[in-house]
Amino acid sequence: MKDNAAIAIDLGGTKIKLGIVEKGEVLAWTSIDAQSDKGLLPRLPVMEDEIDKLLNEAGKTSNDLSGVGFATPGLVDTQKMKLISINDKFSDALNFDFVNWAKDKWDIPLFLENDARAALAGEWKYGAGRGKDDVVGLTLGTGIGTSAVMQGELVRGKHFQAGILGGHFIVNVNGTPCNCGNIGCAEAEASTWSLEKKAKDDPAWPESELSKAERIDFQSVFQLAEQGDKLALNIRNYSLDIWASTVINMIHAYDPEIVILNGGVMGSAGVIIPYIEQKVKEQAWIGWGEVKIVQAENMNNAALLGVAYLATTLENQNGEDEV
Ligand SMILES: [Zn+2]
Repeated sequence: MKDNAAIAIDLGGTKIKLGIVEKGEVLAWTSIDAQSDKGLLPRLPVMEDEIDKLLNEAGKTSNDLSGVGFATPGLVDTQKMKLISINDKFSDALNFDFVNWAKDKWDIPLFLENDARAALAGEWKYGAGRGKDDVVGLTLGTGIGTSAVMQGELVRGKHFQAGILGGHFIVNVNGTPCNCGNIGCAEAEASTWSLEKKAKDDPAWPESELSKAERIDFQSVFQLAEQGDKLALNIRNYSLDIWASTVINMIHAYDPEIVILNGGVMGSAGVIIPYIEQKVKEQAWIGWGEVKIVQAENMNNAALLGVAYLATTLENQNGEDEV
């Protein structure tokens, strides 16, 4: 019996996080540049080297490991462990044989999962969703990742896309074209990738302090809004409404008792959470009580924890006995 340590990988657009995780604890971790314009496959040898260093640091060998957990953006077939759809970056990884890669390198099984689902698994098992059976998670950042646990099971659906497309729920039928092909998706209306264009297209842009900001991100939007900058206020207020609408859509779709918010934008949690709480109270149709809206406990490593959990419980998920 392996001691339930796992290699955990969280593939992001700018950074790839790598870790050795054991029973909900990150023993060692690092992050490397994703260089996503070159695709994923050229980064694999670098990842292997870094992981071997981390194993050393954690005092583990591949004999101690139960598996590799690999979190990636896009749609993932969690039976064949294949990436089936992803926007542009990393498209060289479509249909790549991740299982064989892990077997060749460390001789252990691999579990591939969508990154938002992995992040929710991390919060569900080791964070704010501990002990709950009905949980929704949203990651507000470069895009908007979502996921749901219903009646104690991660929602995946027949084609593995259930729960994870909340960022592509339509929140504005006259809205901005999204990189998914849809129009007016939540993440096309309010996420970091769409923010800069939205700001620059606004007639108030030239007079706004935002046009002088070093980086156009939600941190500067929230800061300048505090100081009364008109454009920043408009963007902040509109974004808060989009995120609140997305939370309400997720509550209506998945019937959670708690909604957990994660991601870089949550640096402004002090404004975001009370606003969403109020909107949910006023607008959501909830017949049984009150849905809790909380910040994630594992702001930096929820996906690592979650994907390690999935990798170490692999046998159970496939319906076979643990060995
Ligand atoms: Zn979309």
